[in-house]
Amino acid sequence: MANALYMNDSYLKSWEAKVVAVKDDKYITLDNTAFYPKGGGQPWDEGFITKDQEKFRIVYVGKFSGEISHEVDKPGLKIGDTVSCELDWERRYIFMRYHTASHLISNILYNDADAKITGNQIEMEKTRMDFSMTDYSPEKLNAFVDKANNIINQDLPITIDYMTRQEVLEKPELARLAVGLPENIKEFRIVNIGDVDKQVDGGTHVDHLKEIGTIELTKTVNKGKNNRRMYFILK
Ligand SMILES: [Zn+2]
Repeated sequence: MANALYMNDSYLKSWEAKVVAVKDDKYITLDNTAFYPKGGGQPWDEGFITKDQEKFRIVYVGKFSGEISHEVDKPGLKIGDTVSCELDWERRYIFMRYHTASHLISNILYNDADAKITGNQIEMEKTRMDFSMTDYSPEKLNAFVDKANNIINQDLPITIDYMTRQEVLEKPELARLAVGLPENIKEFRIVNIGDVDKQVDGGTHVDHLKEIGTIELTKTVNKGKNNRRMYFILK
């Protein structure tokens, strides 16, 4: 199985790899990759795979049966090729900032309003969060965003460690999503924001909170207690 380099180093921008599988001339598996596959509300990474000066553009990255598959824009890569890889860092860094901001927002929704996150879509220009919340008002959400911004000002570090399934099950707050823990995984990656937040998570995050900038609530939508929605941007 390909080594997912972004799991331990979200700041890795270029690396060498070997092509280990090619399907239909355009779906590439690498022995090592830092290209993040679409998942957890975070879009896939873009960038290039280069072989002997020839550049193959990454148009999609997905995870299928546990393998990270890179769709490239043209045929030419072969099994055994040694290639160099480069992330579209500007794009990825925006996603890292939004993703880390989503942790803070969902932490506050969970702890202060007993709300569960039902959906999260990160984009280049904005992020959407869907959640269930009984006692709802847009003012409340504004107050939560203010609280998140105050935490950002503490510039806490984001760190990674690992826990067993049993340890995770004993702490339901570690998995705030409404959906359950994936089966067949024994060891879970935990993302810590200082001592404020802990989440089971396979995504990419910034190293320190201040990299997020300031969260600004731009829109709220209310379609019933199980269907609230908010949009935010980063400044
Ligand atoms: Zn995360």
